Amino acid sequence: MEKIKMPHPIAELDGDEMTHVLWGKIKEQLILPFVELNTEYYDLGLPNRERTADQVTRDAAEAIRRLHIGVKCATITPNLQRQEEYGLSQLWKSPNATIRAALDGTVFRAPILISRVKPVVTSWKKPVTIARHAYGDLYKAVEYRVPGKGKAELVFTDENGVETSRQTVYQFSGPGVVQAMHNRDDSILSFARCCFSYGLSVGQDVWFSSKDTISKDYDQTFKLLFQKVYDEEYRTAFEKAGLTYRYALIDDVAAKVIRSPGGIIWACKNYDGDVMSDLIAAASGSLPMMTSVLVSPDGNFEYEAAHGTVTDHFYRWRRGEKVSTNPLATMVAWAGALRKRGEWDKNQRLVDYSDCLNQAGLDVFEEGYLSEDLAALCDPADLKEMPDNDRLLSLIRQRLEVLLAQ
Ligand code: NAD
Repeated sequence: MEKIKMPHPIAELDGDEMTHVLWGKIKEQLILPFVELNTEYYDLGLPNRERTADQVTRDAAEAIRRLHIGVKCATITPNLQRQEEYGLSQLWKSPNATIRAALDGTVFRAPILISRVKPVVTSWKKPVTIARHAYGDLYKAVEYRVPGKGKAELVFTDENGVETSRQTVYQFSGPGVVQAMHNRDDSILSFARCCFSYGLSVGQDVWFSSKDTISKDYDQTFKLLFQKVYDEEYRTAFEKAGLTYRYALIDDVAAKVIRSPGGIIWACKNYDGDVMSDLIAAASGSLPMMTSVLVSPDGNFEYEAAHGTVTDHFYRWRRGEKVSTNPLATMVAWAGALRKRGEWDKNQRLVDYSDCLNQAGLDVFEEGYLSEDLAALCDPADLKEMPDNDRLLSLIRQRLEVLLAQ
């Protein structure tokens, strides 16, 4: 079979540890035999970030903006222990944070569902996708440990130095804590646009939740800006596509999602999204089955697995042990990026190949060949084998060849 051509490149961001090893194997065994892969390659492995003083991460983010599509392998976010392990000159920032900031993007996380691993929530027939606002709130908060009696105030001074607001936060009669958070209209508007664009692109309803009954200015602003963007920019397209947007209180949405069949995008403020994406992951099956897409309001897409570099497997693999790492989310990331390229280029062969790549892994898992993380979760009667990485990829390769020949 003639290899599938790919006239326009995507940005490829390689990473660290076990996922870096899998990255190479997935390319070598599942992609390169079938596709004339056209990527701009960036090595975001920690040693190369150190060598380039993290310039490679900034270059990679720029490449995603330029090429509009990227696929990323998991990377180490260094802490003090990693600094020692890799001899780093400094604690480089999380590459994901750098890329998110450069693209002003929203992260959409959805679980991959397979019938062998039943979601804890039995009504879910389709994945629930969490869209997490990735700017501000708790994550950019200013905090103070109040030592004792005194008054905490919230003061705003405008650009001319004129104090336009002063409110008492609390009159302390003893020690306590105080915190100030912020967000920006432009970031909230981008977030709303990303959610509605993504909803349209995957054909799913969008629900946005906050707590505007209690937070009458802060959360209310989110609610109003979402509604404005929907009414002015997306309502017509949503109605044409038979989709809906709804706003509700977060407690209401949390209760409704549990009883829904899934297949919705739940847009969450930063902290809510942090909590809910792990909850959805655990309730759906397992963290290694979560996929992640970063979407920017001007239409750039970065696909990745939500899990990390699987350090524990890497150390075992380095000692020569056989390990059984789940490759599905990384394969789904590749399939998503290649499919998007195929759609935009009207390259039907690339679209079909991407769908087969997606399906091949699922089929092998559905047959009962499960990686270690899922083997532990499924009914033992459903487990045919727990293959190591090489065997699992060769099973997926066989299945992929069958699907491509059909
Ligand atoms: P992790 O996701 O790598 O692992 C958490 C647990 O889940 C481990 O027990 C691991 O064995 C298991 N697991 C994860 N993915 C798996 C898979 N595909 N197959 C089987 N088991 C899997 O998270 P961690 O251990 O907290 O972090 C390891 C490294 O990854 C850290 O250096 C961290 O900075 C980095 N990290 C990167 C990203 C990213 O790039 N998106 C996300 C999270 C963590």
